[in-house]
Amino acid sequence: MEKKYIYDFGEGSGQTKELLGGKGANLAKMTELGVPVPEGFTLTTETCNDYLNNDKKFPAGVWNDVKKYIKKLEQQTNKQFGGENPLLVSVRSGAAISMPGMMDTILNLGLNDKTVEFLAKKTANPRFAYDSYRRFIQMFGNVVLGIEGHKFEEKITEIKKSKKYQEDTEFKAEDWQEIISLYKKVVQDTKGYDFPQNPEKQLEQAIRAVFESWLIPRAIRYRRICNIPDDLGTAVNIQSMVFGNMGETSGTGVLFTRNPSTGENKLFGEFLMNAQGEDVVAGIRTPESIENLQTVMPKIYAEINEITQKLEHYFKDMQDIEFTIEDKKLYILQTRNGKRSATAGVKIAVDMEKEGTKNKKEALLSVDVESLDKLLHPKLDENLDKEVLTKGLPASPGAAVGKIAFSSQKAEEMSNNGDEVILVRHETSPEDITGMDVSRGILTACGGMTSHAAVVARGMGRPCVSGASDLIVDQKKNIAFIKELKLEEGDYITIDGSTGEVIKGKQKTIPAEISGDFETILSWSKEFGQMHVRTNADTPKDAQKARDFGAEGIGLCRTEHMFFDEERIFAMREMILSKTEKQREKSLEKLLPFQRTDFIGIFKAMDGYPVNIRLLDPPLHEFLPEKNREIEALAIKMGVTFETLKEQVLSLHEVNPMLGHRGCRLMISYPEIAKMQTRAIMEAACEAQKQGVRVFPEIMVPLVGVIEELKFLRKLMEEEIRQVFEEQGMSVQYKIGTMIEIPRACIVADEIAKVADYFSFGTNDLTQMTFGYSRDDVGKFLPEYLDKKFIQQDPFQTLDIEGVGRLMSIAIGKGRKTNRNIKIGICGEHGGDPKSIDFCFHHDFNYVSCSPFRVPIARIATAQSFIRKWQ
Ligand code: PEP
Ligand code: MG
Repeated sequence: MEKKYIYDFGEGSGQTKELLGGKGANLAKMTELGVPVPEGFTLTTETCNDYLNNDKKFPAGVWNDVKKYIKKLEQQTNKQFGGENPLLVSVRSGAAISMPGMMDTILNLGLNDKTVEFLAKKTANPRFAYDSYRRFIQMFGNVVLGIEGHKFEEKITEIKKSKKYQEDTEFKAEDWQEIISLYKKVVQDTKGYDFPQNPEKQLEQAIRAVFESWLIPRAIRYRRICNIPDDLGTAVNIQSMVFGNMGETSGTGVLFTRNPSTGENKLFGEFLMNAQGEDVVAGIRTPESIENLQTVMPKIYAEINEITQKLEHYFKDMQDIEFTIEDKKLYILQTRNGKRSATAGVKIAVDMEKEGTKNKKEALLSVDVESLDKLLHPKLDENLDKEVLTKGLPASPGAAVGKIAFSSQKAEEMSNNGDEVILVRHETSPEDITGMDVSRGILTACGGMTSHAAVVARGMGRPCVSGASDLIVDQKKNIAFIKELKLEEGDYITIDGSTGEVIKGKQKTIPAEISGDFETILSWSKEFGQMHVRTNADTPKDAQKARDFGAEGIGLCRTEHMFFDEERIFAMREMILSKTEKQREKSLEKLLPFQRTDFIGIFKAMDGYPVNIRLLDPPLHEFLPEKNREIEALAIKMGVTFETLKEQVLSLHEVNPMLGHRGCRLMISYPEIAKMQTRAIMEAACEAQKQGVRVFPEIMVPLVGVIEELKFLRKLMEEEIRQVFEEQGMSVQYKIGTMIEIPRACIVADEIAKVADYFSFGTNDLTQMTFGYSRDDVGKFLPEYLDKKFIQQDPFQTLDIEGVGRLMSIAIGKGRKTNRNIKIGICGEHGGDPKSIDFCFHHDFNYVSCSPFRVPIARIATAQSFIRKWQ
């Protein structure tokens, strides 16, 4: 079937947003719902892709169709493109997933030297007409012709100065006419040709520019940050213009149907009378709160209320709406699901379930699980004194502390050096995306709650204070002032995005707690989870924290992490550096009581749940003393000479310790380590059980690659366990399993499964070894690989389904073949990543395991996977 490349708003309602883009699909839906939308049509995302894939040529027939749709628009609006009652259009991009500020928009297209006069006559408002025309030249010049914006702005400043005006509002019609001439000269001087006068030519160039803007670096960068696929393409919406700047009975605004910061169910937004949409977001004039519209235009306010409810109900979500009032008539220009803070996301989901707008499953699915991380991040400690320097708008919640950077580049540079950064700008623009991404928080002097900084920061979950008008930023000198106080790059500052406060210096923060609506969402997720969520914890304290977050057991206790305090590390070093079995056993005896005590604590914290303890897996170099001073101190304690010990340290040096004598290999060489740990675990289990704790110990062997390793260690451990049970006169239920973290283990998993009660995928090492990328050195080249799109996502964060995932599938299939009841889990970092969790869910894992703070996220992600599969 031939592709249909264009739909007008009246025909598009059955089409998907993948085809029409989010904006286009919503415009079509609104038209169908009877919402007052200015007429227009949409060129599909397929048109964009076909255009970009075909040497930037329009697909056959498309241009003719555009002209037909323009004809239709002329009939619908009773205006003419380039004619006496001039039809003016906006040309906007609109991808399937919203990319705020990323793509370019052109307004007032269709104006030229002739139509501007018609418009002036028709509206009896020449000032408005010339202002619209100069705006159009400026936007078109910038977006389509690529002329730097400042070349135009300079002209305005010149005239303003020469006429001694304070505000743009003082410009008269003649002034705008003068500026139009200057602007046209800018175009002629920069491009060597005249500003295009033919509206069709203007339209063609504008459509091309929008399509091509899909490939501009900042759009690509945004897609990378937000994991948006590159092949979606953007639709183009061509819509007849309505004007908010036709005098005091006109205006324009942006609103959210609920508060996007807190989730409160109350209209939230801003408007400006006698203004165009860009004035609201640009932060040049300070807009009024939407509530005031009730006084200014009560009828319009009531109409807005009614429409917003209709739209929320229809789209079953909080909406972000742009509207224009043209001479007392309301138009809705666009609606889309609004970006919101994590707090608001959770509240809106719970409220909408209560209101009956969404059912529980829909509400759960609507939660952006990635964003919840931010709810688990620190807040300011309210009990401490603080010096509030000024207050801006609370644009994106959460507290952030860091060193000031005045530019995006500087923020990146400082962050690469390990600094925590607060990006401080007069206002942000889409070019600042990268800087915002690496910063802990963002502070701007200008802009409202819907300004670029606010919208993007909320989406990214970065705390943001915008519009702090006491802040003066001198971008050139890299200094800023808040009243008398001078701030320099590198100075510490604290911002509170929940209150808008800007605080002097480094303020203490406290960890967030789960409560209220978040708790409700978590309780719902229980109803839809079948895969358990465990935690990776090495101390009773972490285990308890994870229990509080709802962890159902421990999926990985890294025993080597239990040896970092001074007394323990000494015994540990002594053990590693022992020359004889006797010496080693002596130091192991010192370690055993520490281990036993820790394990008892962990069993207690996880009463009734499985606790999976891994045998020692240290890359040895992490424990060895490095400096001569340390070696000397240890030698004295061990009663050997410095030289002997130094020689011993050197003999343990490995060229590549990550692939060296670690994990089960160490235990094969020194079985007494495995024996000691097994004994400590089982003695602790017996002791805890005696105290009434329900214990389910699991002992896990790391880095198994050949079956003999596991066979050997299992036999050895079972013998030790038998002895402990005999000594204690009791027994406990236990399991012995293995990590699957070496590619070879995946391939021979059928053999391994015969000797293992469970598999736990160690996807950190499995990723490292499958790619052959060192976990420690990947930072040197991975960013380039991501930039070049060699790989789409950091495989150490999100499971590489194609490669690592494939190996895991093989291992699971083989393992279940020879051991039908084998339990399967994951304990690499991926166990807390929603996409990776989805993979585990679809492979019928028994559990995922992640760090305590990721547990709530993993629980919700598990429920979402369940709902998506079964709803
Ligand atoms: C792993 O390799 O995925 C794992 C959990 O172990 P570690 O990170 O301790 O090597
Ligand atoms: Mg590992």
